[in-house]
Amino acid sequence: MEKTNFHTHTSYCRHALGSAADYAASAASAGLSELGFSDHGPFPNHDFGLRMLAEELPAYVAEVKQLQKQYQNKMPVRIGLEIEYLSFQEDWYPRLFQEYSIDYLVLGEHFLEASDHELLNIYAATSTKDYLLYAAALEKGMHSGFFAFVAHPDLMFFNNFAWDDNCEKACDIILSAAKELDMILEYNANGYRRGRQEFCDGARYSYPHRRFWKKAAEAGIRTIINSDCHDPAQVWDWAMDQAHEEAAALGLTVVTTF
Ligand SMILES: [Zn+2]
Ligand SMILES: [Zn+2]
Repeated sequence: MEKTNFHTHTSYCRHALGSAADYAASAASAGLSELGFSDHGPFPNHDFGLRMLAEELPAYVAEVKQLQKQYQNKMPVRIGLEIEYLSFQEDWYPRLFQEYSIDYLVLGEHFLEASDHELLNIYAATSTKDYLLYAAALEKGMHSGFFAFVAHPDLMFFNNFAWDDNCEKACDIILSAAKELDMILEYNANGYRRGRQEFCDGARYSYPHRRFWKKAAEAGIRTIINSDCHDPAQVWDWAMDQAHEEAAALGLTVVTTF
């Protein structure tokens, strides 16, 4: 099996260990055939905290470009960012490609537009109704055309609510948009690192959520397995092995590049 990873953080985000060079070295020694950096992307006039500042973007890009040169005969390295889709930031995404030479964007919807510019933190949903807002935000982001794939589309299950109709609906909204657009969804290994936890409807991982991914397998959604590493030792670790095993057991349509 081809080993690749396109969801890699660096210390620029202030909650990950190690430089881009440390992650590249770890990827090369694990035998990855391709590596993509996708640190948390900034917005020019809105600081969410725990991510690089817009002023730091040129330095991040320069560091990764240097690694592209260093590894050019061994392992292609791509420059990406993980970032939210926010309609009032529409002008920012093309600038990331054109002015900052970003190769790809990952839709990582940690904050979403609940209503007119009001932002909702999906880690702090107040009920499963918020999952419908999350699903609608992902759908809009997918339709925007700026994103190569969707990071942890099942992130909402981080919250402790029992499975209900809203969960079912939110999954269906996300999966049918992905199907329609042939969008790649990410099976995120970092959920395994968070551990199996006791939720009100039983023990499970916060994500990947089996019910979501069973539906994704049935729908034949193209799926990419990524590390979402915040430590160079995690570029390829037990969680990546587990993610590949579970994805195969679920019968997911796995792609290793895009
Ligand atoms: Zn992070
Ligand atoms: Zn991430």
